[in-house]
Amino acid sequence: VLASFRFYGPLNDFLPPARKQRVFVHALVAPASVKDVIESLGVPHPEVDLIVSEQGPVGFDHLVADGEHFAVYPRFTSLGLGNLSEVRPSTPVPRELVLDGHLGRLAAYLRALGIDTWYENDADDATLAAVSHDERRVLLTRDIGLLKRAIVEHGYWVRTTAPAAQLVEIIRRFDLHEHATPFSRCVRCNGRLEPVEKGAIEHRLLPRTRERFNEFVRCPDCDGVYWKGSHYERMQRFLRESIERARQRV
Ligand SMILES: [Zn+2]
Repeated sequence: VLASFRFYGPLNDFLPPARKQRVFVHALVAPASVKDVIESLGVPHPEVDLIVSEQGPVGFDHLVADGEHFAVYPRFTSLGLGNLSEVRPSTPVPRELVLDGHLGRLAAYLRALGIDTWYENDADDATLAAVSHDERRVLLTRDIGLLKRAIVEHGYWVRTTAPAAQLVEIIRRFDLHEHATPFSRCVRCNGRLEPVEKGAIEHRLLPRTRERFNEFVRCPDCDGVYWKGSHYERMQRFLRESIERARQRV
């Protein structure tokens, strides 16, 4: 069975140079679904939104026939393709996230931005995939194999490696600047921060902090206490710059 493929947009990131941005022919050794062929070519299914053959849109389970041609399109968050997609119901991409254990810095940045971010540094792949599936969270990972797990519906391969660049990439990809509520979540555990009377936590503060600050928030989940010290100011500047960079479309 010989079939031809053309991948569009960021899906090309998964292909070798000779197959990027062009039609290429692929030989199948055995009958296979278009989903399995696409993944064998290197592209994880959660990044795919629309597959069009000569007959129109097809689903992931479509069996590839000899001589067929497929155009494969990525998922868009802001630029919706309507309900053309046959690969999944046209549900909006969620903006609750689950991050793999290697993305700890990015997790802290996203929580600082107020984005609901599930992260445990020792979570195994099965747990990450299950959390993504059960809680409808977008799985962010640098592990393409993890995204190929069948139960992962919403997932994204993080292209960049430096945490600051990753934050810009994720803000841009998921339009998070429209959903950010900075300093509303605990960076340690993702809990929703609540204002707390100074008197209730005063005894836990260093003398210098007790003298200089009067407004505090507390995490009801891990009991962490936060105030607008120098770390807050640095983080605020960093988040603002990251959002500005993300909004400069490339
Ligand atoms: Zn907490």
